[in-house]
Amino acid sequence: MAIRQAQSPPAQKKGPGSVSTYKKLDSPVQYVKGVGERLSRVLGKLGIFDVRDLIYHFPRRHEDRSKIARIGSLQGDEEVTVCGTIVAVENIRPRGNILITKVAIDDGSGVATLSWFNQHYLKDKFYKMRGREIIAYGAAQYSRWGIEIQSPEWEEFKEDADLLSTSRVVPIYPLTEGLSQGMMRKIVSNVLDGYLGLIAEILPDGLRDRLDLMDVRDAVRNMHFPESTEALEAARKRLVFEELFLLQLALAIRKREIDAPGVGIAFRIPDNLQQMLAQALPFELTGAQERVIREIADDMSKPDCMNRLLQGDVGSGKTAVAVAAILIAAGNGYQSALMAPTEVLAAQHYLGLSEMLSRAGVRADLLMGGIPARERRAAQERISSGETQLVIGTHALIQESVDFSRLGLVIIDEQHRFGVLQRAALREKGLSPDVLVMTATPIPRTLTLTVYGDLEISIIDELPPGRKPIRTHWKRTNERNRVYEGVRNLLSEGRRAYVVCPLIEESEKMQARAATELYEHLASEVLPDFRVALLHGQMKTSDKEQVMKSFRQGDLDVLVSTTVIEVGVDVPDAAVMVVEDADRFGLAQLHQLRGRVGRGEHQAYCVLIGDGGTDEALSRLRVMTQTNDGFEIAEEDLKIRGPGEFYGTRQSGMPALKVTDIFKDIPILELARKEAFETVDRDPGLKDPELLRLKSEMLKKYEGFQLAAVS
Ligand code: ADP
Ligand code: MG
Repeated sequence: MAIRQAQSPPAQKKGPGSVSTYKKLDSPVQYVKGVGERLSRVLGKLGIFDVRDLIYHFPRRHEDRSKIARIGSLQGDEEVTVCGTIVAVENIRPRGNILITKVAIDDGSGVATLSWFNQHYLKDKFYKMRGREIIAYGAAQYSRWGIEIQSPEWEEFKEDADLLSTSRVVPIYPLTEGLSQGMMRKIVSNVLDGYLGLIAEILPDGLRDRLDLMDVRDAVRNMHFPESTEALEAARKRLVFEELFLLQLALAIRKREIDAPGVGIAFRIPDNLQQMLAQALPFELTGAQERVIREIADDMSKPDCMNRLLQGDVGSGKTAVAVAAILIAAGNGYQSALMAPTEVLAAQHYLGLSEMLSRAGVRADLLMGGIPARERRAAQERISSGETQLVIGTHALIQESVDFSRLGLVIIDEQHRFGVLQRAALREKGLSPDVLVMTATPIPRTLTLTVYGDLEISIIDELPPGRKPIRTHWKRTNERNRVYEGVRNLLSEGRRAYVVCPLIEESEKMQARAATELYEHLASEVLPDFRVALLHGQMKTSDKEQVMKSFRQGDLDVLVSTTVIEVGVDVPDAAVMVVEDADRFGLAQLHQLRGRVGRGEHQAYCVLIGDGGTDEALSRLRVMTQTNDGFEIAEEDLKIRGPGEFYGTRQSGMPALKVTDIFKDIPILELARKEAFETVDRDPGLKDPELLRLKSEMLKKYEGFQLAAVS
């Protein structure tokens, strides 16, 4: 009896006839035929709690076992499905506890041996099955027993039974302990038989016909037990489309709300913008910088709100672009806010920008936790009176405690550390400012169409002139001495070097201690004849500033540091970056660290020391030696880590994509995006009754988006 102690409704405790009326997709998985209490706990480990979870627990992959091979024609070294009668069974104990079960099957063309290792429960099972037919799948090898298949998957062959594991395209599921592929296939088959009919079709018929998309129930069934590889392909396409269509609908609606025509500010572009920029910046703009400044100025001059993402690799010069936008806002009598992810970066921006902007007559203020209360109050007064035209701080500060007199532009640096929703929160604060989001870490196209799918995009694809590609080497820990010999040579030629100490995530204190130890070792034993200094987060601010200043001026040769130098630090003469224990760092972090060098006239080097302990670490180190291109590195990072982990997109309010492969499904993504945006253009409130189910599904899934226009 599948149903035990059903809690709701109590009337269904008995009688299978009445059960179906109470079947629900959110019934606990325990009530699915063949599951029960013990298995339901096992399934829980896979995140499967109710019927819907089980139905949508799709296979990792499939294996085409639809062709049954003739044993007599097998050569060995091939994955095959065979079917034959059990003619002999033998249990061998070569020594001690080891048990090998061997079963010979005959299909008329030849005999093959199936063998299992230490599967005690099989010992007697096959004896009882002698003379019956089984079907088995696995890697066939030619051994001294003739053709042998070790640890095959198998089932008893019955002419009329629906075979789940053989003679078809077979699903391979993600499993956990206490669950086998066979069990999983059985219960999935049961849940489909019992509940598949409850899944509602949410895509309108017209759309499905036009795009040739499978019915949802057919698609789900074929995702598990496909009729053919073609049917599997069609099923996947349908489900990927649905997933992406819902996401793109939500993005289209949000974009429409944000873009609402006429509610933004139509900035006038100052005639003397060029001159003001030339005055403020100590260099000439690159072609790419000029182009994106034009794109931004274009957006700002329109009465709609700007929502633009500025992408550009480390060191590509995004700050100068921000300066242009700030000057436009200030020229129109509006204030700007610049939000940075950390106080360190906010302070860096303040140092750089306040000087540049003051040359153009624009006053900047910094708001930070560490600033004395009196100074902070004074700054806040200048902000609310409008005397200050640019406010720099962390997002928390700017969002919560600042009263702007006339906020017109919001710039968010390093967007990947912020949630999408925070953008909306700031917008609610007052006017409808234009928003420019800057990211130093390039985002692959797949993510710009998804996570950032409601933003316009500008790309700086050119570095300032004179930058030579950095040469990156990966060295094993036993080559450390040689690495420091090389560093010594470069130091003798007058170069300056960073040495980044191993990453310790437990605490800043331990991190500081590790840096201190490395510093002492390098200063007294490895490079005693050079000027070595230490920098870490636990030092006093004034000491930190002093060290940075000396290093910049050339009074120091080597800076041993924690990752406090990861972002923002800009010393053009530093030409060597050594990262100790590079295995521990993520790709984005390594790329940022490497970006600290290669800004000056000399050839720059980055040396990563590590043994590549895990597969992931190996791939990261390899990628770093292969490319300097931040976009490529971001794609690789996305591949290694998967979209959920990638730069905290998980925190961005974006539900996980379950069936979509963010790399392979770009064509479907583009199709879904086009269809979704057209749908919303045609019917902004999704009022068409045909769209009713689709709309409620979308609102449920993307409730975090606060889609007021349709809810
Ligand atoms: P990021 O895009 O990483 O924020 P920054 O704006 O900090 O880059 O610029 C990196 C470095 O390049 C800075 O030292 C900056 O002064 C310099 N820089 C930016 N644009 C140019 C340019 N057009 N010509 C020369 N140097 C530039
Ligand atoms: Mg920057």
